[in-house]
Amino acid sequence: MFLKQYIKDVWGAMKSLATGMKRTGYYFTHHKEIITEQYPDNRDTLVLPERFKGEVVMIHDENNEHACTGCTACELACPNATIKIITKFDVDAETGKKKKAIDTFVYHLELCTMCNLCVEACPTGAIKMAQTFEHSVFDRSQLTKTLNKPGSKIREGVE
Ligand code: SF4
Ligand code: SF4
Repeated sequence: MFLKQYIKDVWGAMKSLATGMKRTGYYFTHHKEIITEQYPDNRDTLVLPERFKGEVVMIHDENNEHACTGCTACELACPNATIKIITKFDVDAETGKKKKAIDTFVYHLELCTMCNLCVEACPTGAIKMAQTFEHSVFDRSQLTKTLNKPGSKIREGVE
């Protein structure tokens, strides 16, 4: 009885090994069908799908200008309070009038579900989803980000 079971187990193991080796052999001769990514070795050449969403970022141009008016539409659209818009009043040098402007765009990456609702809500296209994904940190506070860059200002003509 024991011998019978032993032979059955050995036979089962060999069959399983042969199945695995058959699959390995197949991909050995069909390189183009391999979809496994050699991450992180391929970090420099990694191509992510177009629709992949990694984090919210604010778009700045070469003059360090953005299109955020501080309207808070993104903050209101966010279902889990990931965004906090802090505004200030800039004084127009020519007219002396006060105008609302963004002071700090606070983004809590650790709360973000990458739902994209904030991006869709933005009337000026000031933010977008970036494809970054390596977000591991030792200190959770590092996941709270300021999206407007130091010294950046709103682009002329954006209302
Ligand atoms: S992607 Fe979604 S969860 Fe993340 S900040 Fe925008 S609205 Fe909030
Ligand atoms: S990012 Fe867009 S929606 Fe959010 S405050 Fe700025 S202009 Fe308004």
